[in-house]
Formats: sequence, C-alpha cells, structure tokens
Amino acid sequence: MVKGWSSLTRWLSVVCCWAVLSPVLAEKVTVTYCVDPDWLPYEAIENSQHIGLSSDYIKLLEENTNYDFQLVITETWQQSLNAIKSGDCMVLPMLNKTSQRDLYLDFTKAYFTAPNFLVSAQEQPFLQGIENIGQRTLGLTQGYRISEFIKRNYPNINTMTFETEYQGLRAVAEGQIDLFIGSVLSVNNHIQKHGLSNLKLAGWAGPSDILRMGVAKGQHELLNNLNQALSEISDHQHFDIYNRWNDVTIIDNTNYKLIWQVVLGGLIVLALILLRYSIIRDYNQKLTFKNQQLSQLQQELMNSNAELQRISQHDDLTGLYNRHHFNGLIASGQYNNFDKGPLCLIVLDLDLFKAINDNHGHVVGDQVLKAFGGLLLECCDAADVVGRWGGEEFIIIKQPAEQDEAKKLCEKIQVSLSKRVFPHQQRLTCSFGIACMKPNEGLMDCFKRADQMLYAAKNQGRNQICQ
Ligand code: GH3
Ligand code: MG
Ligand code: MG
Repeated sequence: MVKGWSSLTRWLSVVCCWAVLSPVLAEKVTVTYCVDPDWLPYEAIENSQHIGLSSDYIKLLEENTNYDFQLVITETWQQSLNAIKSGDCMVLPMLNKTSQRDLYLDFTKAYFTAPNFLVSAQEQPFLQGIENIGQRTLGLTQGYRISEFIKRNYPNINTMTFETEYQGLRAVAEGQIDLFIGSVLSVNNHIQKHGLSNLKLAGWAGPSDILRMGVAKGQHELLNNLNQALSEISDHQHFDIYNRWNDVTIIDNTNYKLIWQVVLGGLIVLALILLRYSIIRDYNQKLTFKNQQLSQLQQELMNSNAELQRISQHDDLTGLYNRHHFNGLIASGQYNNFDKGPLCLIVLDLDLFKAINDNHGHVVGDQVLKAFGGLLLECCDAADVVGRWGGEEFIIIKQPAEQDEAKKLCEKIQVSLSKRVFPHQQRLTCSFGIACMKPNEGLMDCFKRADQMLYAAKNQGRNQICQ
C-alpha cells in the first residue's frame, strides 16, 4: 500500500514539475538577424518586413526550433555586415562564405546555390567568362562575396562598386559602365522589376553563390541548432520555397521594345503605303473621269468644228455649197490640172426671179430657191459639186466631163424644170453658161467665161444654154 502511494506520489510530482516547467521550456529564445535589404528574390526588406527566399527559411526555422527571429532593419548590405560585426545582430540568414567573413562569422552548411552572371547592354557581344572582360568596366556590389572574389583574383579588371545591385545594373543600362556581375536570380528580378529591357546576360561569371547562414563568432549552440534545423528541411520544402520566390522568368534576351518599334514602324509604313495607294487610286479615278470628260469635250469640239465647217461651206437656205466653199476650191488650186479628167463649169441663173418675190413675197421666193436647189441635186451626179453662188445664181463643177456632157446636164435640168410646179404654183426657167477648162487655165478664169456665157444666154432671151 505504501509502495502504491509512493509510486502515485512520484507520478504526481512528475506531472506537477512538467506543469510548472513546460512554459519555461517552451519560452522562445530571441535571435536577432540582418539581411540584405535589396537582394530579391534571395531577401529584401519591404515595408519593414523581411521577404524573399531567406524569409521562408527563417519561418521554417522558427517552427522547428526554439528561436524567435527578430529582424534588425538596415538600409544596405554593408550596414548588415557592420551590424553583425558590432553585435547588433546575431545571424545573417543567406550569404556566401568567404575568407574575410570567416574572421567574424561561423557558417552553417550550404542550403542554396545559384550561378552568377555578367550583365551588359544588348549591343555588347557575349563574353565567355570573366577572363574576357578585358578593358571593360565591371560593376560590383559593395560587400558581396563575388566582389571580393573579383578583386582578389582579377585585380587588373577596372571595377566600380555600387551600394546595391540595382544601382550597378542601372549604371550599365545608362552606359556609365560596360558590365555588372550578380547572381542570376536577383539580377533577373531587378531587370524585370525596373524594366531595364536594354540589358542582357552576357556570360557566366565566376563561381556560383553557395549560400549559407552566418552566425556571429562564438554562438556554437545557435550554430549547431541551426545546422540541425536546416538538415531537417526536406527537398520538397526547399523546392516549395524556391518556386515561391523564383516565379519570375529568366531574363528574356528578346528586345521587345525593338520588336515593338519594328512592328509599329512596319505598321506605319504599311499604313502609308495603303494611304498612298488609296490617294493614287482616287487620283487615277478622278484622272480617268477627267480624261473621259476631256475626250467627250474633244468629241463635242470636233463635232462643233465639223458643224462650223459645214455651216461655213454651205448655204443656209438650200443646203448646197456656198460661194465661200467655191472660193476655197479656187484658192486651193486643186482643179488647176486635170487629175480627174476634163472639167466643165456651169453657171445658172433663174429667169425673172424678182417677179416671184414681187408677186408672192420673199418667203415664197425662198421656198422656190430651196426647191430649185433640190432639183439641181436630183439632176446632178454624186461626183458633181453643186452650189449657190449668190441670190438666184447657181454653179456646178462637173468632172470628168466634156462640153457635151455639161450641156446634157443643162438640158436635163431644163426638162426637169419644165415638169416641176414650184411653190408659187408656176413653172420656172433658167439660163445656163457653160465653160470647160482649158489647159493652164485657172478655175476663176473658167468661171468668168462661164459667167459671160450666162450673160449671153440672158441676152439671147433667157431659158438658153450658152457655151
Ligand atoms: P433675170 O432673168 O435677168 O435674172 O431677172 P431676175 O429678176 O431674176 O434678176 P434680178 O437681178 O433683177 O433680180 C434678182 C432678184 O432675186 C432680186 C432679189 O430680190 C432676189 N433675191 C436674191 N436673193 C434672194 C433670196 O435669198 N431670197 C429671195 N426671196 N429673193 C432673193
Ligand atoms: Mg435671175
Ligand atoms: Mg441673177
């Protein structure tokens, strides 16, 4: 019974001790830490909060250890390095191990690696490593392991140091320096975030970043516990963290600005070509229309000219050729030889025509003249040139024709007149003078002779044919 009480008492004692001590045991130990405030996706400070890959590792470590990690805010990486040296913070969660840092830091085992790259402007050639930098100026970030590496191993390279990676990258973008060296993930992040599209990865550079946690010298327990906790992080968790912060795409060397400029330029050229084509097409349509109008006008003008010519050469009343036409024939000299055979000229004058006017008026007189013109055309051949010389006097050029043929024509007209009743309801007679052209005689002289013959016919009592 006593033994039973004894073991119960011991069990109660254990429970009481656990109840009293467990809050003490569970109380977290504060660990201060500093980060690079501008090194995404690895780490950064945004709105006083720690973000980036290392922030996720810190959260995991908080879950798996007794540590409560407290961020000490700094403005540059160099300030963070100074802070750990001065004891203002105890841990740097993500950095490379270097011989200099070995002086004031102990390092956990590596838990993240990433390659470094040279970055240049688009127009720079690709460089096969740091050895080919030559006389180019290389930008470095103050306090970064790769900067130490370059200065130690490549002292002849012209370098310029910047407080942050972004400042160095901007210096390349603005042409102040030729190259910048940085970790692929953070460089990519800056380029995307700040739209530095004229930059490209120009080549691999130096050793990869092998990132660990740095613990201020002498904190052995902390170092061991962190190493233990880091070793418990599964591959799956590593992968998750990487995926969460590396959702940015690797630098795309495609110069989209240039592509857009080319596409836009192409579109503008295309638009101008279309515009020009449309203007030319409109212009051509207008030109075609104007040409049609012009040829129509030309046609009208030709018709008008033809009509004018016709009017100028024809007698209004009878429609026969007029004196102007005959003058043209005389002036042209086309009848001065006998190309078409012998030529005879007949001059006709209506007898006592005045009496018709006097007795029946001018209108009837006109109608008689018109009817007589029609009769002449009926009697003549198509080749004969029939005209009104003036008043009631007419003229016929007959070619080829000898005197006999001319006379026959006159007789034919006489017969026709004798049968025709004219608008004044009477018959008409006519006197004829015939002259046939002599060799070397002009048409005008021939006409004069024919006129003399007509005069003779009148004198002989009218209704006569004289030749
Ligand atoms: P003759 O036999 O001697 O030729 O006598 P005629 O009356 O025919 O000749 P005359 O010279 O005396 O008169 C000609 C007339 O013809 C005078 C004129 O009024 C008339 N005449 C001239 N041209 C026209 C015209 O276009 N229309 C009309 N109705 N009469 C005209
Ligand atoms: Mg007369
Ligand atoms: Mg007369």
